[in-house]
Amino acid sequence: MKKKKKNLFFPLIIIILFIFIFYFINFKRKYELKIFINKINNYINVEEFYIYGTHLNIKINNKLEKPILILKSSYNEIKYELVLDNDNYILSSKLNEGIDLEKLDNDRYYIIIKDNDKYYNLVNNTNYNNLTYYSISDKKIDLNFNENMILNIEDYKTPSDIYDIVIDAGHGGIDSGATSFGYNESTLTLEYSKSIKKYLEKLGYKVKLTREDDTYLKPYGTNSRTSIPYEVKAKYLFSIHFNSSESYISNNGFEIYIPNNINYDLANSLVNKIKSIGINTSTNTSFKVNDGIYLRNLSKTDINNMKNEAIKNGYEMYNADTSTPYLYMIRETGGFMTKAYIDGRNTKYDKNNYYNSNIGSESYLLELGYINNKNDINFIINNKDNYSKVIAYGIDEYIKNT
Ligand SMILES: [Zn+2]
Repeated sequence: MKKKKKNLFFPLIIIILFIFIFYFINFKRKYELKIFINKINNYINVEEFYIYGTHLNIKINNKLEKPILILKSSYNEIKYELVLDNDNYILSSKLNEGIDLEKLDNDRYYIIIKDNDKYYNLVNNTNYNNLTYYSISDKKIDLNFNENMILNIEDYKTPSDIYDIVIDAGHGGIDSGATSFGYNESTLTLEYSKSIKKYLEKLGYKVKLTREDDTYLKPYGTNSRTSIPYEVKAKYLFSIHFNSSESYISNNGFEIYIPNNINYDLANSLVNKIKSIGINTSTNTSFKVNDGIYLRNLSKTDINNMKNEAIKNGYEMYNADTSTPYLYMIRETGGFMTKAYIDGRNTKYDKNNYYNSNIGSESYLLELGYINNKNDINFIINNKDNYSKVIAYGIDEYIKNT
């Protein structure tokens, strides 16, 4: 008996037809978008653009009324209000705000400006060109200036040499840091850094340590403490330290040092998590801006000392002011956004090859308690596992909630 064959002809035709319609609509929408963009014949200069941590910020120069920045693709339109920043408009005056690159859907977006009913294309007026960002969420984000400013986002397995977070174990080798009650700061920072790394990895992050053993790391130059975060394109950097105070002050508690000009969301997340396990925020009042949060910029005295050193050694004074971060790990890992200045003019140090970069890590320095305070050191020694765990959870909570 002959087997009856099913007729596949009609279902196949219908499937092909649907695919055709789908491609046709897609093509039509892309074409219409291109026509729309090409019709825009007003232009505005981009004076600055950078990625700090996970956020893209764009600064434009025109005197507009109420400009809105639009990411426009064939199916999406995302709007951002711009804010005044002296004579310019910027997405946010805070470094860690702007366009959250971790939250955008895959697409090809034109970046344009709308003011009242007028549209503007963006022209690159900076010394910087295209940028590539590998997100925590396994996406590759390319920012291109060709005829237009374009943001292209696609799924992409993060390359093995790219990391999400760098944990810096402070000090090491000949530099033992603070010592008290028989403990070395450099040993404790390494133990804590390894433990924080372990918990962050459990939460799914790719984590790189600046050092894996008791070795000395030079501050600048290739394979240095400040170059590693750039080399691995880290979104976040946490430098781990333990404090020590003069015996007549006897401070205690933990301090989180932040860069200048950021929102405190991540720092607050860390403060709340750490407090919950029973160590208090620091009693130190110098440079304190919030409970447990510290901001130290260069003082006028620091700047004068720098000037004197420049004169003595015959180089031109650095471009630094009282909004420049004091801590080099915070300042030199954030590119021009955090006013990194180690550019090789002082031959005492290797050059920070990335001092002028427009892509940098969102960096924090954590002083996890006073090594010369009896209560603090007991807590540090007896709660290593729990302490590092809540730090990892605090970081994770911020990243997931932004
Ligand atoms: Zn230290």
